[in-house]
Amino acid sequence: MAVYEGKWRCSSCGVLNQGANLQCPCGNPRGKDEEIFLEPDAPAVTDPALLAAASAGPNWFCGYCGAENVHTATGCKQCSGNRTQSSDGRKVQATEPRREVERSTGMRVRDEPTEAMAALDAPLLSLFSLRKCAAAGAVVVGFITLLVWLFVGTKEVEATVTETTWTRSVQVDQLGPREEGWDRPSDSELIQTEQRPRVQEVPVTVTRTRKATKEVPTGETKKVKTGRKIDTGNGFFKDEEKEVPVTKTVTYDEEYQETEFRTTVVPATWYVYRAWRKVRAEELSGERDPRWPTVVLLPEQRSGNRREEFSVVFLTAEGKTHKHNPSDEGEFQQFQKGSRRRLKVNNVGWLISVK
Ligand SMILES: [Zn+2]
Ligand SMILES: [Zn+2]
Repeated sequence: MAVYEGKWRCSSCGVLNQGANLQCPCGNPRGKDEEIFLEPDAPAVTDPALLAAASAGPNWFCGYCGAENVHTATGCKQCSGNRTQSSDGRKVQATEPRREVERSTGMRVRDEPTEAMAALDAPLLSLFSLRKCAAAGAVVVGFITLLVWLFVGTKEVEATVTETTWTRSVQVDQLGPREEGWDRPSDSELIQTEQRPRVQEVPVTVTRTRKATKEVPTGETKKVKTGRKIDTGNGFFKDEEKEVPVTKTVTYDEEYQETEFRTTVVPATWYVYRAWRKVRAEELSGERDPRWPTVVLLPEQRSGNRREEFSVVFLTAEGKTHKHNPSDEGEFQQFQKGSRRRLKVNNVGWLISVK
């Protein structure tokens, strides 16, 4: 355990003295007013006489004159007075090492000038950025208002139906050639099925062991430094230590699980089928009364998907045209060519709805 010598400054003449010295060269004896401190970079003491002084026990202050005396002294070296009840010892406690504060100014010079500068700059900076933020905010609010006005704001206009068109188509499908596989389209024509062995990769969870290590307490303890220093009360300091349990590293078998794939053969259904394929589409269109095209089907053909599309064109008094797509035949039939309707359009000119 390392021992370090402290320092103290004479309250009478201001000279810095070693912790082992109980009297300043000026003649002033060390007393309660003189605090003993440890410099963080103080080297460990090796001199046997100093080591002996450090382990002698805490010093005591004379009850008559206040001078500091070594632990073993029975009388005061300053006034020869006996050690009395009123004589108390130096405090023995753990402390962080510290340097003596600067005496001339009474405060330490701070080495973070940036903090003070930041405090000065802060109000200016915030005022500047506040104006910038306000300007940017006004632009954004204005832009959003314009967008809302353009797309949400609507007006009603009178318009005439100038064009009505419908288109309807029917797809014609034909059965394709014979195909086979593990899957088939749900609407395909099934020819036959059979059970066949199918090779599959099946996930299997397996448990394995591996070598692992862990720390186990041995039951013994050892002393380690805490990083703090204990004031020995006689001008010296020593490292503070604490007892910690001793551990050892042991190796053991650890179980863990892993997924691996195994190839297995299972019976599965094999399909032989013919799928429907699009061969053509019949289309019909007109202005009024929508109807479906008539489809002539050959053997192995069917009528497949049906599509329909309706379109109405309006002309406003200002000469603008709007196109509208009715969703079904019922809605489409409500629009007579030449009839007048009211349209709701937004400020961009898009048709929103038809009344
Ligand atoms: Zn002095
Ligand atoms: Zn004394």
